Amino acid sequence: MMESNNSSHLKETDADRRRGILADDSLSLDLVSALAGDRSLTEAEKNRLSEIKKRRGLRFFSDLLYSITHQYFAPEVAEELWDEVLQHKYELSTALGRNVGIAVAALDYLSNITGNMGSATLVVEAHIEEIVGLSLSDGLTGLFNHTYFFQQIDFEVRRYTRYGTMVSLVLIDIDDFKKVNDTYGHLEGDRILAAMGRTLIRVARDSDICCRYGGEEFAVILPLTDVHEAGTIADRLKNELAEHLPGGWTVTVSIGVASCGKDAGTYKDLVEKADAALYQAKKNGKNRVVVSAEGK
Ligand code: GH3
Ligand code: MG
Ligand code: MG
Repeated sequence: MMESNNSSHLKETDADRRRGILADDSLSLDLVSALAGDRSLTEAEKNRLSEIKKRRGLRFFSDLLYSITHQYFAPEVAEELWDEVLQHKYELSTALGRNVGIAVAALDYLSNITGNMGSATLVVEAHIEEIVGLSLSDGLTGLFNHTYFFQQIDFEVRRYTRYGTMVSLVLIDIDDFKKVNDTYGHLEGDRILAAMGRTLIRVARDSDICCRYGGEEFAVILPLTDVHEAGTIADRLKNELAEHLPGGWTVTVSIGVASCGKDAGTYKDLVEKADAALYQAKKNGKNRVVVSAEGK
């Protein structure tokens, strides 16, 4: 029996949906195909599936269809469609005298019978992962892009409001970058941005989410990190990000740090709070970190 969920548990944003494809425990097409009977499941796979099913409740069916179609179906609809697709696979296989597989059955059912998929196309699974990865990363620095930043900050702040798990945000802006470009040229400016991207990845922890927020601005999301720890990490980032150029110029950064709290219960509040701290860092003379006071 499927675990019942209250309706608020079923509400998902686009961020949840897209996150599924990148999450470590997302369902591979191979596993879903085995679940549908295309090959036998190992004991470990059976256990893993039942754990995911328990945790995801009805959303498990959205996950199943997502792994095949990369299209989101609401949980209640997905549960019914999954049964229908399985039935269709059985009928097709019987008619053809061989197993057609879940992917072909789903494609035929959802595009030719229900019309859910419109004009579907065939893409190899590995290629989709590559496309999704590219669509969420910034070409110059290799960091996550603005789109991914907002998905993740939203996800982390909602986790904070629901479970009280702390999250901090570090906003970084390169000092006088216009002058750097004017003096050394845009190509050198680009090289510095890429180098800073690599430094961020090196210095940040594995769990931190390093993004290019905009032109010469970076954002690092620090899940499960309080404001004091975030301040320490930001100091380290500031020191490591400094780029020494020929001619004696050192390119520096200013950083604003903020955490969720009574005054920041949405991702917009948190971004605004970190932005205000960054503004203060610039105003106080640049090349420094300002940590937004807690509860302010
Ligand atoms: P401040 O210390 O106040 O931040 O001054 P600033 O010069 O860094 O800030 P401003 O916002 O005036 O200028 C930002 C500059 O960043 C202007 C823009 O040309 C440069 N920039 C933005 N994106 C890129 C990029 O992708 N490559 C290069 N080379 N420069 C960029
Ligand atoms: Mg700027
Ligand atoms: Mg700047």
